[in-house]
Amino acid sequence: MKILILGATGSIGLQTIEVIQKFQEIELVGFSFFKNIEKAKNILKIFPNVSIFSKHVKTLNSCDSYDELIDKTKPDIVLNSIIGFAGLDLSILCLNKKINLILANKESMVVAGKFLIELANKNNVSIIPVDSELSSVFSLTNNNKNNIKKIIITASGGKFFDKENLDESHYKFNEVIKHPKWNMGEKISIDSSTMINKYFEIIESSYFYNNEIDVIQHSEAIVHSIVEYLDGSSIMYLSYPDMKIAIQNAIFNFDSKKQIINNLNYDKLNLNFNKIDENKWLPIKWAKDFLINKNLSQPIIINASNDYLFELFKKEEITFNQIIPTIEKTINKFINHKISKIEDVYLLNNLIREWLKEKKYE
Ligand code: NDP
Ligand code: MG
Repeated sequence: MKILILGATGSIGLQTIEVIQKFQEIELVGFSFFKNIEKAKNILKIFPNVSIFSKHVKTLNSCDSYDELIDKTKPDIVLNSIIGFAGLDLSILCLNKKINLILANKESMVVAGKFLIELANKNNVSIIPVDSELSSVFSLTNNNKNNIKKIIITASGGKFFDKENLDESHYKFNEVIKHPKWNMGEKISIDSSTMINKYFEIIESSYFYNNEIDVIQHSEAIVHSIVEYLDGSSIMYLSYPDMKIAIQNAIFNFDSKKQIINNLNYDKLNLNFNKIDENKWLPIKWAKDFLINKNLSQPIIINASNDYLFELFKKEEITFNQIIPTIEKTINKFINHKISKIEDVYLLNNLIREWLKEKKYE
């Protein structure tokens, strides 16, 4: 099976390289990276003959575009593990080329899930999510899609869940990226602490499953999802928090044959669950609104402002506790925009970035 990784130098990309090394039947045929030449060189030491592409770094043998990279390597599957809105172009490109997509870039599903699912169906290819929660729901529902009452995904709650109030202005970027349970890339670690990551996953879930969706807080990050059945029973999916399970499941279409992480030590298990206060954690309220209204502009607004504010927080131009109130102002300003085709997604995304750049929210 030939696999191509877009965004190989990131957290998910590098964990996928680890998984690939364990299987002779998977062949890495190429990868893209953005700026991190050192990590790209490390991958090339392990796989010297693969094709590469980077917009910023050109070497003798590199391809000139994503198009060329895909056409030259002819992969059976592509993993899109790019961060943020930039991943959308590539999800569209792969589906247009009729290639099965393994999607870690949840942002592209969040902003354009409707259009991506339509495109995948039209071209008869699949989209499989690489996210512990969504992947676990796929595993749980693989054999029994009937009689499901509700799907519940868990939220570890990030760094600040137990704090009484959210006046976290003194926290610096480098502190907030240290997630208590998961070792992840910078942006998703910040998104976890604001609960925006859970917003994304609820929106994404609404495109993958036709069931009622709910969320519950679970600090230990051992239970990733729960499927409730009509008869009153439920099935939980448990594993240590390690993305290699979701990556392997996506590559082998939920038919994994090899042990990739340790089984749980049940003696030591202590599992706790809490209701999430939607008035304190607005992204959960926004997600519930979306599930009811299906207003396609809302996820685009939230993703665009979140991408932009992440960059400002990283540069220390805003504080952590300015992120959510600024997103709220952006929602109020743009919520009535109509989205009827994929071009509208790009237009609204750009409009919001411009608006934030001019600091019109102040
Ligand atoms: P990272 O920031 O660690 O990696 C991002 C990758 O994208 C890098 O290879 C980077 O290249 C590349 N990249 C960055 N900007 C651009 C751009 N503008 N155009 C093209 N490539 C770009 O992110 P993660 O691996 O943490 O996350 C990737 C996706 O997976 C996200 O959507 C995230 O939400 C999702 N995800 C991540 C999890 C995790 O455990 N990390 C868990 C579940 C989902 P370079 O490094 O060379 O600059
Ligand atoms: Mg997740």
